[in-house]
Amino acid sequence: MKVKFVVYTGGKWDLINGNIEYVTGVDSRRRGLEIETDHSYNSFLNYVSKMCDTPNITRLSYRMSTFTDPIDIIDDRDVRFFFDLAMQNPFELYKLYVIQESDVGSSGSSSIVFDAGHIFNNKEEMKLELGKKSLLEHFEFKVDRSSKTRYEVSCLGDGCEWRFKAHAIPCGNLWFVKYMNDSHTCSKTQTHPHFRQANPKVLGHFLKEQLKDSGRIYRAKEIVKDFRQRFEVEITNLQAWRGKSYALELLQGTTRDSFAELPIYCYNLKLANPGSVTHILVDEQSRFEMVFVALGAAIRSFMLNLRPVVIIDAAHLKGEFKG
Ligand SMILES: [Zn+2]
Repeated sequence: MKVKFVVYTGGKWDLINGNIEYVTGVDSRRRGLEIETDHSYNSFLNYVSKMCDTPNITRLSYRMSTFTDPIDIIDDRDVRFFFDLAMQNPFELYKLYVIQESDVGSSGSSSIVFDAGHIFNNKEEMKLELGKKSLLEHFEFKVDRSSKTRYEVSCLGDGCEWRFKAHAIPCGNLWFVKYMNDSHTCSKTQTHPHFRQANPKVLGHFLKEQLKDSGRIYRAKEIVKDFRQRFEVEITNLQAWRGKSYALELLQGTTRDSFAELPIYCYNLKLANPGSVTHILVDEQSRFEMVFVALGAAIRSFMLNLRPVVIIDAAHLKGEFKG
């Protein structure tokens, strides 16, 4: 008996919007593997290492569609459990996530390689990966064909033979690389004004790390400059701003989501700080107008140490919708 699964490498686990997610970087790869189910932990680890070219695995986990947190494989018993699950659910494609001992400067990589057979989770991810590749390798591509089952792009350089062709896998959202000619016959040295692959998702991916430090003010102008230095591409202020908005959305969730969570926040605030008073004011169409918060501890100390002066502070919202 054999089981099939997809192995993810080159990423790391991170907390995104409260969920544990395997965040892939520029070095990330995916491979489809098929394996006999009689492996021990060591032989399983060796097999994955060898097939995925990941010599120094430090953590091996998988996820089920019904249980989203990653489940680790650390011994023979875990390997058995994983295979048993896979055999019981032959229609579920299991994903195995590999964490490697981090080699210094992994973000410094300057190219992404997709071999024929490389698998993407969905079309969106494939487009993102291609966008990242083109940005890192300084070339632009055009889409020659894009349908539900085919995606073909070629380099924009004059007469260049660089090609990428992918097909959808009939069941599920997966796509795989059918054909790839990764060598350019154009010169990739010219800079590209309004670099066309610099869409918000691609830029957002590169900006996310920088924006994790919430104290940082990262202006569009600086982003444009950084991209010029790092990737030798010219993007506009607007492209930079959109990329930044998208990166912030990835990190913090959308502004819309934040408004929706306000009642839950107020409820929990009252539980955690007894005596707190909160009030959310909305307009006739239930759109947010104002929120009032007085912490229980602040109210109590006010009552105990009454002074004839009251100072109220207010703050304006600077996000997408103002307020
Ligand atoms: Zn080219």
